[in-house]
Amino acid sequence: MPQRPKLVLAGQLSVYPWVFEAAERAGIDLILVPRGDDSAEVAGRAKAVVELLPLDVDENPESALSELVDRYRREPFDGIMAGNERVVPFVARAARELGLAGLTEEAAAVVRDKRVMRQRLREAGLGVPGFVVIEDPDGWTDALTLRFPVVVKPANGHSSLGVIRVDDKDSLEQAVARTWKLIEAHHLGAADGSTPESGVLVEEYLDGPEVSAESLVYQGQVRVCGISWKGELAGPYFEETTLRAPAQLPAEILAAIEAEVIGAHHAFGVTEGTTHTEVRLVGGVRPVLLEMGARIGGGGFMHHLVHLSSGIDLAAEAMRIHLGREPLCWREEPVPVGHVAAYQVAVGSGGRMKRIRGLDSVRNDPRVDYVVEAVSPGTLVVPYPDHSGYPVMVISRHESDAEAEAYRAHLARTLHVEYEEQD
Ligand code: ADP
Ligand code: CA
Ligand code: CA
Ligand code: CA
Ligand code: CA
Repeated sequence: MPQRPKLVLAGQLSVYPWVFEAAERAGIDLILVPRGDDSAEVAGRAKAVVELLPLDVDENPESALSELVDRYRREPFDGIMAGNERVVPFVARAARELGLAGLTEEAAAVVRDKRVMRQRLREAGLGVPGFVVIEDPDGWTDALTLRFPVVVKPANGHSSLGVIRVDDKDSLEQAVARTWKLIEAHHLGAADGSTPESGVLVEEYLDGPEVSAESLVYQGQVRVCGISWKGELAGPYFEETTLRAPAQLPAEILAAIEAEVIGAHHAFGVTEGTTHTEVRLVGGVRPVLLEMGARIGGGGFMHHLVHLSSGIDLAAEAMRIHLGREPLCWREEPVPVGHVAAYQVAVGSGGRMKRIRGLDSVRNDPRVDYVVEAVSPGTLVVPYPDHSGYPVMVISRHESDAEAEAYRAHLARTLHVEYEEQD
């Protein structure tokens, strides 16, 4: 019998079960590099995890890399995959060093920097809003030439942290200062080269609903596996609470989204792995990219949306690619299972979390596949535009998009984060 393949999974938060379950289904053993803020005890519990390999990827990527190379020399593994946005450059570098499948370091740097993504899209003749790069807090006046409203954001942020819509020129200076403070507080521009340098991007507001596209890329060939509906997010802050899949859109708009997303992969040089791409439909019809992440979206939950709505086992296929193997859906047409709704409870005012009201009946609902509580009681949850994590995520399956929407609306009415009283 051939040996089970072994994959290093770097920085995957272990409360999110999807990638671990997919590894088990696919017969892949995982060497987990736990995220710095993860509990090693929980991390080792997943069945597919056969080894824990703690590495200080965030603070000390050089020594993390040499420890990883040592581990490989003792007993080679077959691939390495990123489990979160911040480790993407490290994983690309390690893959190159060890001769494993993965992104080039150049492409990894591109998809970690929204400024470079915007430049590449513009050069490729793809849709881009007007944008201005700001290198220091005093440089905000450069953005006064843009058409308002605009959106201010960190060049290399995530989770809508520090992303602010600004409607008029008088409010721009303050918004840029606010985003800059959040970049510093969250160390978004680490000086050690592990993440791109900090900076702020100001771009024209793209007016229209938002969708997300999940793709697989194998040897340069892109397959858009699923398109999910995020809906109208008008700001001023962009807390993401809901997604539904598959997006109910006319075939020509779906085709236009696919073309834009595939073009972006080529423009960014993303040739291997899986991606999460966010797109606005300007005026409801014209797709314009927001950004691309070279990983499974939402800590892994985008996998489940794709798996049910298209039949493609996205996480398992992504792992196959990182093991240097062809994804199964390159040869077998998958069969869609149904409609999916994902709901993340809004953080609201924030505070010290007491509990989530309304969860018990959700847990017992047969339509619900997953209830994932990622923030434990007692934790301080901060409101947007800052970000400290989504308290709970509910993923359910339905016969139709209308039912998925009705259930999401029900969750929005019945689930609430309760905070401790402030004195
Ligand atoms: P992050 O990496 O923090 O997710 P994004 O660029 O994806 O950064 O921005 C987060 C959210 O802010 C997007 O999902 C979108 O809803 C909103 N947003 C960002 N840029 C724009 C824009 N130019 N026009 C409209 N909405 C935007
Ligand atoms: Ca185990
Ligand atoms: Ca985003
Ligand atoms: Ca991102
Ligand atoms: Ca997002």
